[in-house]
Amino acid sequence: MTFDPLTSDFYGFENALAPHELDALSRLRGFMESEIAPIADRYWERAEFPHQIIRPLLDTGVASWTWPETRDTEYSAVFRGFASLEMSRVDASISTFIGVQEGLAMGAIGECGSPEQRADWLPRMARGEIIGAFGLTEPLSGSDSARGLRTTATRDGDEWVLSGSKRWIGNATFSDITVIWAKDSEDGQVIGFIVPTDADGYTATAIGNKISLRMVQNADITLNDVRVGDHLRLTRARSFADTARVLRLTRAGVAWSSVGVAIGAYEAALAYATERVQFGKPIAAHQLIQDLLARCLGNITASIALCVRVSQMLDDGVQRDEHSALAKSFCTSRMRETVAWAREIMGGNGIVLDYGAARHFADAEALYSYEGTREMNALIVGRAVTGHAAFV
Ligand code: FAD
Repeated sequence: MTFDPLTSDFYGFENALAPHELDALSRLRGFMESEIAPIADRYWERAEFPHQIIRPLLDTGVASWTWPETRDTEYSAVFRGFASLEMSRVDASISTFIGVQEGLAMGAIGECGSPEQRADWLPRMARGEIIGAFGLTEPLSGSDSARGLRTTATRDGDEWVLSGSKRWIGNATFSDITVIWAKDSEDGQVIGFIVPTDADGYTATAIGNKISLRMVQNADITLNDVRVGDHLRLTRARSFADTARVLRLTRAGVAWSSVGVAIGAYEAALAYATERVQFGKPIAAHQLIQDLLARCLGNITASIALCVRVSQMLDDGVQRDEHSALAKSFCTSRMRETVAWAREIMGGNGIVLDYGAARHFADAEALYSYEGTREMNALIVGRAVTGHAAFV
């Protein structure tokens, strides 16, 4: 398969990928452009998720590249980052669906599950036979999840009883399992469970009227004395520090996705600018438009460089929480500027879905706030560089 380089990767960072990674990226790009691009605006506007694409999307291998239980050969973290970028470049709802399935739900089982739990769940989830969700955030606890969780897990013989509520949980209106984080009512530590969504006492209700990531189905979950066997407790989740290990990985993934969103908007604006004529010439020939395009490309290029390095640090085993937190806060901020400039380049048409920037502009808002807001990720960096935790 020949690889068509991404022209918005101005400094050619993709050249660092191995041939089998370039092949896989090419297949994913082809799938996103042929199967998702033509339907994205329609599903976004209707606030519906296109369930029919789940299996074909997972057939590209996109949920199989991280864990030894699911991959055929080694794939670098840089490659997996470029895959997130490729999905978001076309549609951030799709990359968020995978971010929840592969990053958060499979990530929780991969990072915190026993070898038996990993072998049982990860292959089926990679193939899409089981859809997962990740329930950490609660109605009264968002940024302060480390200490503020109110959902409790109470041991009762070989079972645990889970009680509480969750908010914003992606994929949860149709997930088969949801990883639920709760406080052990005995010692107050945060622990995790693989909760089958058909368990008695479990309900998930869709959150409506969103202005961002409208295709993604987020839910409010109620856990009313839900009983799960001890075999469904994630055996290597013993405190919030273990939950944070999962978030460290997914935050770097959101940084990569935010570059994809920025590129999607920038490419739409660049194409528009070459066609739209004002004052007798394409607006692309006006100096101030070129300045905006150069600013967009500068943001994108700097963000890719930062993402490549943070992923190399993961592969080298030296990535820490503050490294992925800096990537998430920096890249989502640059994304927010870039999508606004792209929309601006299109004038009035920039707010119309059909012109290609508006969906990215709206979706950027959710990426900016989920997986830790910009402020919370900045505070993680601040704690690392000053030695003072300023959260409370
Ligand atoms: P709050 O914590 O209420 O924060 C509100 C504001 O206060 C923010 O600006 C924040 O930065 C600021 N703030 C809070 N504390 C401080 C402080 N100490 N110093 C300075 N500023 C502060 N969660 C899941 O568990 N699973 C999911 O699948 C999931 N998917 C999501 C999908 C979407 C589309 C969205 C929007 C959210 C999702 N979330 C999910 C939840 C997400 O992680 C939270 O929204 C996020 O962590 C922020 O929490 P909050 O919304 O409660 O805001």
